[in-house]
Amino acid sequence: MSFESLGLSEPLLKTIAEQNYTQPYPIQEAAIPAILKGNDVLGIAKTGSGKTASFVLPILELFQNKPAAANRHISALILVPTRELAVQVGVVFQTFGERLPRKVKTMAVYGGVSINPQMIGLQGVEILVATPGRLLDLLSYKALNISQTQILVLDEADKMLNLGFAEEMKDIFFLLPKNRQSILFSATLGDEIDQINKTQLKDPVRIEI
Ligand code: AMP
Repeated sequence: MSFESLGLSEPLLKTIAEQNYTQPYPIQEAAIPAILKGNDVLGIAKTGSGKTASFVLPILELFQNKPAAANRHISALILVPTRELAVQVGVVFQTFGERLPRKVKTMAVYGGVSINPQMIGLQGVEILVATPGRLLDLLSYKALNISQTQILVLDEADKMLNLGFAEEMKDIFFLLPKNRQSILFSATLGDEIDQINKTQLKDPVRIEI
């Protein structure tokens, strides 16, 4: 299996080669075509499996044909448990998005740092990587809008629950449109994750690595 055969286009393939990704990992083989088709995905996968690229690459590809959203409207929202993961996922979006014909502004926001620069920086952002608490803070200041978000990714959802973000996640789900594509990654599949799966995902493609 090659990245070419997964449905990614030339500019993205070039960067994939530059990053020395010679072959897709199993999770990428399964998730990339599913996400490109618009399916919801439930991925049970650990860090190190290549899960980040498995959603970053198809999301960037989908954006190539997407008209820009109104200012401060987030088209794709990636929820992550920690600041470290937010930064890391943000970097992967930057790396692969850099040389695409249709530029997509990505930003990572998280708590523990001053909120003002983030509020200013959100100008023109279309893909947002965020920790739940800081996202709700920014929403309360009306610094951004998620009422028309088309793609939601929950990355390391079990860790988000373990860190006590269940209520914040519920508040965020309530603010998102029902009609959207949802992708959930978790290292484990417990009752709480299954509950989110049942209430937030629609007929997901299930991938277990
Ligand atoms: P992740 O599980 O997303 O944290 O990825 C683990 C590591 O694998 C990261 O350092 C990625 O850059 C790397 N990686 C992801 N996909 C591939 C691939 N297809 N080929 C080579 N390295 C990869």
